[in-house]
Amino acid sequence: MATRRAIGIDLGGTNLRGAQVEIDGQSARIVEQHRYEVGDERNPAAVAKALASLVDELIPDARVPVGIGLAGMLRGTGGMVANAPNLGWREVPFGTLVASELGRPVWLENDLSAICWGEYRFGAARGFRHVVCVFVGTGVGGGAVINGRPDRGAGNVSLEIGHVKIEHTDGRRGDCGQRGCLEAYAGGRPLAEQARELASPRLLALVDGDRERLHGGHLDQAARAGCAESCDVIERAGRELGRVLADVTTLLNPDCVLLGGTVWEGCPRLAEVCKQEFEACVTPAARPWMQLIEATLGDDAGVLGAAGLALSEGIDHC
Ligand SMILES: [Zn+2]
Repeated sequence: MATRRAIGIDLGGTNLRGAQVEIDGQSARIVEQHRYEVGDERNPAAVAKALASLVDELIPDARVPVGIGLAGMLRGTGGMVANAPNLGWREVPFGTLVASELGRPVWLENDLSAICWGEYRFGAARGFRHVVCVFVGTGVGGGAVINGRPDRGAGNVSLEIGHVKIEHTDGRRGDCGQRGCLEAYAGGRPLAEQARELASPRLLALVDGDRERLHGGHLDQAARAGCAESCDVIERAGRELGRVLADVTTLLNPDCVLLGGTVWEGCPRLAEVCKQEFEACVTPAARPWMQLIEATLGDDAGVLGAAGLALSEGIDHC
């Protein structure tokens, strides 16, 4: 198969990263990449301009397709960002802004759809057909490949697993504005908030008394050192995550559930409780078909997946 080229972009809350990617069958290679701090200038038009000049630096050739994975909830397939809390955006037609800056079409994807496609095509989930990918980082995001195709649902918001309600009355309020979402319990930002709220002696000892430095990893560490309050928070997060993963497995019958993200990697107690709860709650009929694995591409999954998706790999974009 001939080598094909595309540009993959990963736009998070703080970083804009772009890579020129060469794809040859089952392998992908980053040829060149650039990274910028988004900083405080999160005005959509300014970010679109920065993104366009990044693309021009990588490959000015307008025939090379551009895929963007963006940390936010999209609406439909026209490039509309409904809500991107990390960027402070609501109802921003970002795909259109970038396309007019660049003078060529771009494919805008949810970041987890891009990561999921990256791991499915080139990473740990290669060889599976029905993949659910869940990342626990600042928030909790999900993506899926169903029967070898990226699944976006009717409105491009499928597998928004962070917004599954786990508390129906009076739950914690999340970045999305709703109460009781999984993300408000298991996401990195709310875990850090809870660590600062708790500020137990054992937690404070981990950061030389500087409460502001506390994050989810400290809760996990304090829990393993015997801090009962930290244990409650981190184990609840793991338990709720495990239950939701079990429900998703029961509903979709995937052959692979792939996990990753900074909180997943940095909170071993959370991960352990999650796996136990998952095994306790999953429907036995779905369990034998499925493997629970961990992401292997790290930060590269997003740009590789976005590049792959921009090449229309077996998918209908619009
Ligand atoms: Zn939510």
